[in-house]
Amino acid sequence: MNLRIGYGYDVHQLAEGEDLVIGGLTIPHEKGSVGHSDADVLLHVICDALLGALALGDIGTHFPDTDPAYKGIDSKILLRDTWALVQARGYQLANVDSTVCLQRPKLKPHIPDMRACIAGILGVDMDRIGIKATTTEKLGFVGLEEGVSAHAVVLLEAQA
Ligand code: MG
Repeated sequence: MNLRIGYGYDVHQLAEGEDLVIGGLTIPHEKGSVGHSDADVLLHVICDALLGALALGDIGTHFPDTDPAYKGIDSKILLRDTWALVQARGYQLANVDSTVCLQRPKLKPHIPDMRACIAGILGVDMDRIGIKATTTEKLGFVGLEEGVSAHAVVLLEAQA
């Protein structure tokens, strides 16, 4: 078997006075995501999916939120380091697919730049990086604008 699938899910609280960082971009908004790192929910789920695909635990195992070294860290660094772990085990990326759940603001205009950012970190073409966005129709914590969540799946292929 030379294919491995991985899945990630994450949630961050939204609060005033924080930056809204999603997919490596800072998106203008009156609220931002709260977390030990820059709280980039999309990069976190992609890290978790990559780690999960190789049964390497989760992002908290590798980059503990109790470690001051990761306080306020740019999650692009976490994704870069996670990707290095995957590559060191001889795997390449078939594709990533993801969904970000956020009531406001609309993410659609930012998705091309997010895809380019993630593709750049992973060293792949943009057509391997899927990002979708949805509201939750004003239902639940996302709909009430209390938080942002995201899901991602990845498929890895062992290098020949
Ligand atoms: Mg997170």
